[in-house]
Amino acid sequence: MNTSEPSGPRVLISGASIAGPSLAYWLDRHGFEVTVVERAPKVRPGGQAIDVRGPALEVAERMGILGELRARSVGMRGMSVVDGDGAELYRSTERTVSGGDLGSPDIEILRDDLAEIIVAAGGEAIEYLFDDSIASLEQDEDEVRVTFERGPRRSYDLVVGADGLHSHTRRLVFGPTEQFIRHLGTCMAVCTVPNFLGLDHWQVMHQMPGGGMRGAMVMSVRDGTQARAYLMFDPAEPITCDHRDIHGQKNLVARELAGDSWQMPRLLELMRSAPDFHFDSASQIHMDSWSKGRVVLLGDAGYCGSPLSGQGTTMAMVGAYVLAGELKAADGDHTTAFTAYDKELRDYVRANQEVAITNMSLRRAQLEQEAGGSSAAADALAEADAATFAEVVTSYTVKDY
Ligand SMILES: Cc1cc2nc3c(=O)[nH]c(=O)nc-3n(C[C@H](O)[C@H](O)[C@H](O)COP(=O)(O)OP(=O)(O)OC[C@H]3O[C@@H](n4cnc5c(N)ncnc54)[C@H](O)[C@@H]3O)c2cc1C
Repeated sequence: MNTSEPSGPRVLISGASIAGPSLAYWLDRHGFEVTVVERAPKVRPGGQAIDVRGPALEVAERMGILGELRARSVGMRGMSVVDGDGAELYRSTERTVSGGDLGSPDIEILRDDLAEIIVAAGGEAIEYLFDDSIASLEQDEDEVRVTFERGPRRSYDLVVGADGLHSHTRRLVFGPTEQFIRHLGTCMAVCTVPNFLGLDHWQVMHQMPGGGMRGAMVMSVRDGTQARAYLMFDPAEPITCDHRDIHGQKNLVARELAGDSWQMPRLLELMRSAPDFHFDSASQIHMDSWSKGRVVLLGDAGYCGSPLSGQGTTMAMVGAYVLAGELKAADGDHTTAFTAYDKELRDYVRANQEVAITNMSLRRAQLEQEAGGSSAAADALAEADAATFAEVVTSYTVKDY
């Protein structure tokens, strides 16, 4: 509970995953009064290993959490690609499917571990309201009046939507998601499963026969005490199922990946009883402006790059640092700050969204080579990919505020 007296401008942030708590951390440090509302009853468990790269490493350093991120990284040693009988077709200790080049300084860490570390790093005065959501927003020149699904109504100086790809804040203020979303043609589910393959800091990928992206990847996490399963397919048409209907999503994944190659039946069975489950289409959000009046969007809500970009987390952490910094620099003048935030980040966002498209075609070509056992060709494609990717990742330099 927040017991401190109101200090600076009052900011409400919707979403407590990566972007929201990162922004809360920086705004609190700059003297703002911060509340974060999260629909889930606590910081949500689950999600794949995500990557903190380039400028986000610098931001993590400035937050004092870089050492902890390194200590809790997934520490992969490499990967294999297997056929329908489990025989190894390809092997690499240079790179992995989930994290890319193992020689890079990037940190690969579970999404829920990263969220937990960022929340814990935030100041005591940050107020978290779990199990609630914004119900309505009404703004004028002076403030934003907010009603919640559960809690009493309140007023804020600013509201930030950091509530992900399907952002509720964006829908309320900017209109239907359909205007902004671009589906990239692949869907992916991620859940925690027992480490039934006995993997040791290793990942195994299987591509089912029949072409297109259709298969699974399993990686050991938390020092082999658990594994995370990734289940992927290219839907024939863009998925329209309710993104909160977990039962319906599991049925869809089971239908799409039916077949008895490799460990697929077992994985689908484990998915049914998994303690967490995240499913989504690989999609991007494209908007001409990330703000309207006193409301602004951050992270996936405003500029999701999709899992194929490998840069969602980096954009969320860097975006939070820049937004807080520009609000500080503009001395609370949100119009000036939101314009500067957009100007500062727009090119980086564009480059990262473009890299997702390049990644997708390169990755598919690579998969074909790996599944065909052509290691040299697969490695050559991976090297070319890594070089272009590193250039984009490091193309933004963190400012001082
Ligand atoms: C459970 C989970 C699993 C994920 N797994 C993967 C994955 O496997 N691969 C991948 O590439 N990306 C995954 N992501 C997305 C990834 O975390 C983001 O791309 C990236 O880290 C940027 O984070 P973000 O904070 O902008 O958005 P997100 O991480 O999507 O966070 C949005 C937050 O907003 C909350 N929220 C949603 N609606 C409301 C509402 N109405 N009111 C209040 N809060 C709300 C959500 O519960 C969530 O905590 C996952 C996200 C979540 C929440």
